[in-house]
Order: sequence, then C-alpha cells, then structure tokens
Amino acid sequence: MRFDVLTLFPEIIEGYCSYSIMKRARDAEVITVNAVNPRDFTLDKHKKVDDTPYGGGAGMVLMAQPYVDAYESVERIENSLTIMLSPQGEPLNDSIVNDLANYDQIIMLCGHYEGFDERIREIIKPREISLGDFVLTGGELPALCLIDAVSRKIEGTLGKIASADEDSFSNGLLEYPHYTKPREFRGLRVPEVLLNGNHKDINEFRMQESLNRTKHRRPDLYEKWLLNHNNPT
Ligand code: SAM
Repeated sequence: MRFDVLTLFPEIIEGYCSYSIMKRARDAEVITVNAVNPRDFTLDKHKKVDDTPYGGGAGMVLMAQPYVDAYESVERIENSLTIMLSPQGEPLNDSIVNDLANYDQIIMLCGHYEGFDERIREIIKPREISLGDFVLTGGELPALCLIDAVSRKIEGTLGKIASADEDSFSNGLLEYPHYTKPREFRGLRVPEVLLNGNHKDINEFRMQESLNRTKHRRPDLYEKWLLNHNNPT
C-alpha cells in the first residue's frame, strides 16, 4: 500500500510514521508513505499557498493552483483512490477502513486554515472522509489516523505483535478486557477462568464480556449485532 499525502507540514506525517509499528511496516516495505508539499508547487514568488476569501470573512483559503499541481505531480499506480480529509465528509469507521485497505494507493489531501478553494474539489473529485463531527486545525491528524488504521489491516504490518482480527468492531462488537502479569494488583485479581488454560472456557468468557461491554457502552452496535446474528445473511 502506498500513501501519498499532500500537506503543508510534511514533517508531521514523516514524524509519526517514523516510530513503532508504522516504522516497521515501512522498513518491511509493507507500506510506503510519501509527503508532498503544495508549497513546492506554487507559482507565487513568495511561495503563497493561501489567500483571503472572496465575499469576505475570517481566515485564509487554500489556493487551487498549488494543490492541483501538487496532486497532478503524484505518480499514479493502478487501483488508486484520492481522499480529501474534511469535516464535511463521511465519518470514518471500521467498515470504511476495510474498504480502503483494498486499494494499492491512497492519495490524501490535508487542508488547513479555512480549508480548500472549492475548485480543488471540483477538479480532483476526491472521496471526502471525516474523523467525526468536530473541527481540527488541519488534515494531518486525520490523514495519520487513516494511514495507521488502514495499515493495521494489511498483512505484514502487525506481524506477530498483535492481530486485528479480534480487535473491537472486527466482529461487530467491542473487544473483551485484557489482563497481564501480575495475577493480583492492589487487591484486584485476574479472572480465574483466564488462568486455568481451558480455551473453551476462556473463549466463552471473552465472548460474554464482549457482549456485555457492547450492550452497555454501545447499544447501537449491540442491536445491530443481534439483528445480524439472529438473521445471518
Ligand atoms: N472551514 C471548514 C469547515 O467548516 O468545514 C473547516 C476547515 S478546518 C479548520 C481545516 C482542515 O482541517 C480541513 O480542510 C480538513 O482537511 C481538516 N479537518 C478539520 N476537521 C476535520 C475532521 N473532523 N475530519 C477530517 N479533516 C478535518
């Protein structure tokens, strides 16, 4: 999977992707991450990438020319998708992440300030994705969330460290609780069933915990799970 990120702050993307699991996935060439700065494409002698909004109002708007030229400079491979990070896009969830993991290249446009000149949308026609119903100062954090979440779904990223198969949402439920050493901490003991080595009992316990958690914390997911479970398609 190749990620190309259009951003005025490539260091943010590079920084996060240079640590831990993301770094290992890059080193193993499971993913490549490439940041492109639209400022390098501006035709303005002062390297301007934003300007005041027509019609007035606060804030600066990202100009079309540097973004469109930067976008068109990105090498395109087959099975590529372009995403604009935007609070006005479809809210990201696990099913969208699974869908995105099927592409071989994701090109991302990160906004800043007041956001994009509308003509960037009209020319590039990206899929728009939001991190949720709140507004951030820039698209870099959402782009990193997307790179991270999608990479976890690609074979070779997690290796033996962890598995995405049992994580929350993968089967429509929240994951069961985890415990590690010691067996007792401040009077709180690890549930006995996890210590007895009986995998059937352990699986039953975990499934029950998963169901209880989902029912109490996310009744919306629980209802959906019940529906699918009682009427499998
Ligand atoms: N004026 C825009 C609006 O009200 O829709 C918000 C612009 S925001 C301050 C600047 C940039 O941050 C956006 O262009 C987008 O790339 C990014 N951004 C902010 N909130 C986001 C969110 N919830 N999801 C994805 N991207 C977001």
